[in-house]
Amino acid sequence: MVNLSRRKSTSDLQKARIGSTIVLAGWVEKSKHLGKLAFLSLRDREGYAQIVANKKFMGLQSLKDLTRESVVSVKGKVKTSKAKIGGKELELIELEVLSRAEVPLPIEFLGGTVETDMSKRLDYRYLDLRNPKVLAIFKVRSVMLNAIHKFFRDNDFLEMQTSKISEAGAEGGAELFKLPYFKKTIALNQSQQLYKQLIMISGFEKAYEIGTSYRAEKSHTHRHLTEFWQLDVEMSFIDGIGEIMKTQEKLLVSVLRAVKKECKPELELLKANIDVPKLPFPKISHVDACKLLKLKQGTDIGTEAERKLGNLVKKKYKTDAFFLINFPENLTKFYAMHDGKIGRYVDLIYKNNEISSGGQREHRYDILINQIKNKKLNPKDLEFYTTPFKFGAPPHGGFGMGIDRMLMFILNLPNVREAVLFPRDVERTGP
Ligand code: ATP
Ligand code: MG
Repeated sequence: MVNLSRRKSTSDLQKARIGSTIVLAGWVEKSKHLGKLAFLSLRDREGYAQIVANKKFMGLQSLKDLTRESVVSVKGKVKTSKAKIGGKELELIELEVLSRAEVPLPIEFLGGTVETDMSKRLDYRYLDLRNPKVLAIFKVRSVMLNAIHKFFRDNDFLEMQTSKISEAGAEGGAELFKLPYFKKTIALNQSQQLYKQLIMISGFEKAYEIGTSYRAEKSHTHRHLTEFWQLDVEMSFIDGIGEIMKTQEKLLVSVLRAVKKECKPELELLKANIDVPKLPFPKISHVDACKLLKLKQGTDIGTEAERKLGNLVKKKYKTDAFFLINFPENLTKFYAMHDGKIGRYVDLIYKNNEISSGGQREHRYDILINQIKNKKLNPKDLEFYTTPFKFGAPPHGGFGMGIDRMLMFILNLPNVREAVLFPRDVERTGP
């Protein structure tokens, strides 16, 4: 029996002393038999190791029955190797089959000449993720999330964890998922907007959360899911959108720096090059954006216009990241703070796509009620939102940033589904 408590990784093998005995475990990706020799390619999370069995190894014959993707543990002696996987290999002393894989495999995931299509890959995501290139995306995601948490902790934010369930009809909209809930109908939150504002009214002052949001997005696009991970940030005692932008640009830069520093092998594997944008990011007003794009003032800048604007800004400022600010009143929500007819709104555009939206919220009860009336909404229907503002609300604002979308654009992935372990859309609800 191979002792798993002594297990090392394939990258440890490359650091091990020649002649020492070590234990590895993982998946058998390939095996080759040449007379009295056998070569196995063993894969674990860190990479590959070449295992060589010679005639001294008793079970040489049995290795022929070892199917691809079976899980094994091996004990062996570290040797120098001529193989291209690192400079060292393992001469097999003992092998134990921990789980035998059936053949053929339902999908090919090692990227041969024929690429498996995305839908089939997602049906067998557990196999798809064995592809080191796919795994690399999630190694980067993990580093990215770690960098986000670190950024907010270093900057004195409290982490909040809010509910994803609310009363149906609270926030209207066709994108709402409604579900039966005992004797009621509830809705899954489309955003944490209400909660993060309540948390400001509660006195957290600076708070953030990384959680899921749900939207019944009916169309198939490369950047929309029905369940996505969102970073929600809210800050009190702000004076305009300046601080919101500063927080976002510093956040993006520190995340990009962390990924660039900690994910060198993954970025190489994914052929992704990271350019860290310079601070501060350019700020383009909605009025100027419409002029640049030759659009009628007050037009909602959609996906295609965002791309065009991104290219124009890149030409002028040599950057992938900029803010679109000062939205006209016709595009703002009732809860936004306004300067006359201009809403204190800010979108962050990165690599030609919106990755976050935010702004300062109206915290003064009377003005809020007026804005609701001006938008032809009924204040009675919005009492759940407005009542807390009667009891002392600080000036506040923040933003919501799509985590999946951020990763998608950092790595130049063609589809947001590549950035999520188990993506959900109109059709896909499993596995
Ligand atoms: P879009 O215009 O791209 O549909 P939005 O303006 O509706 O986005 P917001 O409500 O501003 O989105 O949400 C904040 C951020 O959450 C977006 O900038 C984006 O990064 C992300 N996001 C929004 N909807 C989705 C979705 N369906 N799937 C993945 N990410 C999303
Ligand atoms: Mg938005």
